[in-house]
Amino acid sequence: MSQSDFKQAPHKLLLIPGPVEVADDVLLANAHPSMSHVSPDFVPVLGDCIRMFRDVILAPESQPIITAGSGTLGWDHVASNVIEPGEEALVLNSGYFGDSFAECLEVYGSKVTQIKAPIGSKPSLEEVEAELKKKKYKVLTFTHVDTSTGVLTDAKALGDLVKRVSPETILVLDGVCSVASEEIRMDAWGIDVVLTASQKGIGCPPGLMLLAASKKAIKAYENRKTKPNSYFSSWSKWLPVMKAYESGTGAYFATPPTNLIYALHASLTTITKGKTSIEDRWAQHIAVSDQVKNFVKDLGLKQLVADPSKDGAHGMTAVRYPEGLKAPDVLPKMVARKIVVAAGLHKECKDEYFRIGTMSESVVNKERGDIDYLLKNLKEALEEAGYRK
Ligand SMILES: *Cc1c(COP(=O)(O)O)cnc(C)c1O
Repeated sequence: MSQSDFKQAPHKLLLIPGPVEVADDVLLANAHPSMSHVSPDFVPVLGDCIRMFRDVILAPESQPIITAGSGTLGWDHVASNVIEPGEEALVLNSGYFGDSFAECLEVYGSKVTQIKAPIGSKPSLEEVEAELKKKKYKVLTFTHVDTSTGVLTDAKALGDLVKRVSPETILVLDGVCSVASEEIRMDAWGIDVVLTASQKGIGCPPGLMLLAASKKAIKAYENRKTKPNSYFSSWSKWLPVMKAYESGTGAYFATPPTNLIYALHASLTTITKGKTSIEDRWAQHIAVSDQVKNFVKDLGLKQLVADPSKDGAHGMTAVRYPEGLKAPDVLPKMVARKIVVAAGLHKECKDEYFRIGTMSESVVNKERGDIDYLLKNLKEALEEAGYRK
């Protein structure tokens, strides 16, 4: 079947903060015949993905690692390679995913200090600066977009702060809900690790972990006194494999999901070599996010983010139900209209709000009309549920 013939089956429109809608050519690429993962035909496909991933996060100096897994596995990579048991980690917590990253670091033996922000905001730069001056932190992690709240953290400002106050600290960006939907300039901003997954802004099916490490992060790994304390995520296994694929020879540690790598190749090709530049892609996510946020505001609804114009993510929006309405009043009505949005996630208030994901295909492929369809139906579903502004 040629690419232009393939059309995915009719389905409910998936507008959650990942997985997201996937383009036809990406799905078709996933239907590639079985391949040997070390064959000369496959090796450059993964090699290209490694090179293209650098272009998505503007990190020509970085070393990417792409393996089977999901975003969560990226935390294990950081916790078992970059930091050693007993060393200090500072976790900036702007919601659910900060709790999880902290828990993962502790599993591998890090000493974790958290700075927690109230729901809908993020730790201030002053708080972070004061903490960095108190003791030497090996690692500082932050959730670029916390998917439970929709809060966007200022990655560039944190990069500047670390350079100024604690230049040895490894700065780790959890970009699972931000890579390819938010501006990220890894090298220029001094970010040492960016970790993400295939199924959100990258617009591919779930099943891949993607990570990039700066020279400083690799040095921290090389200077370890102890061996990496995990097996599947050990950089002693993956770094030689990634270098081999990039140089065109291939090597084996654990089988890459070959079909998904073809799908990733298709989505990364669109992102890095398609008619929309990465800068335009970020701008389109901002424009759609503004459209959604203005629409819900005009409907009289509040957001979880206290100050959406300043702290709001651009690939998702967390919206509070109006007074008197709950999830069962609204979400099934959306499903009946063939739209899937996500329930709340933050443990303290998950029944009070829902989440709309606006990443990748639904944003950049305007012909689909996904966003207009969403907004029209959201208004009608709320009215059907009895809501009047
Ligand atoms: C989705 C998400 C994760 C977890 O990723 P999985 O692919 O579900 O393992 C981690 N961090 C953030 C910010 C996320 O949005």
